[in-house]
Amino acid sequence: MSHNLDIVPASEWGFFTLPRPMCIAGPCSAETEEQLYATAKGLSEFGIHVFRAGIWKPRTHPGSFEGVGAPGLKWMRRIKQELGMHICTEVASEKHVLECIKYGVDMVWVGARTSANPFLMQEIADALEGTDMPVLVKNPVNPDLDLWIGALERLNRAGLRKLGVIHRGFSTSASIPYRNDPGWRIAIEMRTRYPQMPFFADPSHMAGDRKYLLELSQRAMDLGLDGLMVESHCCPQEAWSDAKQQLTPPDLQNLLESLAIRENTSENEAYREGIDALRARIDVIDENLLKLLKDRNAVSQAIGRYKKEHNVAILQAVRWEQLLADMIARGAALGLSERAITAIMTAIHDESVRVQNEVLEG
Ligand code: PEP
Ligand code: MN
Repeated sequence: MSHNLDIVPASEWGFFTLPRPMCIAGPCSAETEEQLYATAKGLSEFGIHVFRAGIWKPRTHPGSFEGVGAPGLKWMRRIKQELGMHICTEVASEKHVLECIKYGVDMVWVGARTSANPFLMQEIADALEGTDMPVLVKNPVNPDLDLWIGALERLNRAGLRKLGVIHRGFSTSASIPYRNDPGWRIAIEMRTRYPQMPFFADPSHMAGDRKYLLELSQRAMDLGLDGLMVESHCCPQEAWSDAKQQLTPPDLQNLLESLAIRENTSENEAYREGIDALRARIDVIDENLLKLLKDRNAVSQAIGRYKKEHNVAILQAVRWEQLLADMIARGAALGLSERAITAIMTAIHDESVRVQNEVLEG
């Protein structure tokens, strides 16, 4: 089932001025005013305009650093005022949302442990109702596309239209080099269902280690995703959370510069003309295929009537097997794969049986 979402494109949020990838960067956690400011300054110096930092941290073990809370929002506000950056943080409750509104946070995101929880999602949506806060929703920790979409629907129903998603991979018990299973298939499915939705990847949490950041970021770009959320810290080895996966601002600049960004189709005139011409040819061929299928259906009906008159069963298994083998052989001579011919002819034959059945029962 497909659910409609009413989304405002990211180009209208007024945040992202750089071409693809749109980049959100900043430390896993706000730790001290100095750490936060130094990181933000380093990022703004090479053109990052959207700054992230965790103020409340969902940690696996109690007793780990759980975030500085509201004082961190004051430090964030200073970054907004002095460096002109847009600031964003993670919210997981009504209280977090109210604090963010109070301190002028420009955008919030919902973490993977929260998007997996419909009660919390509803609480957050209710708290945001009446604002036009942009909200990015991370995929739930488990690979459940509907749960992810449900989280977006709750926000949308509360009147929020500046919505986007962040793909950060899925928890896994498999032994893989990354911290999370990238599960790109689900990202592609989400992208296909909602092509207008601003789509970020979070290579930091997916990787768990800075050495994999480039390959995962490149993959996200190759899949045509719009942006990246990357953790960056002025002094990663001293970070209070996620130390292994954070990059210094200059290292992040290097990473972004070494990404190969394939042309976004709409921007290149010559490409557009070429692809439009090719697509027009495909469209004509598809139209002809439809006409042929219609003619074929008419013949199937005639066969149905004829079999009915002569009291013959519809499915003639031997004939069908011969026909398929024959088509596979002829297809091979034309360079068409057995797999494709089998799938296409099976679908066509099923339809023919259906049409003949209709005649028989009619
Ligand atoms: C984060 O972005 O700091 C975070 C906690 O990420 P996730 O919700 O993806 O684990
Ligand atoms: Mn983190």
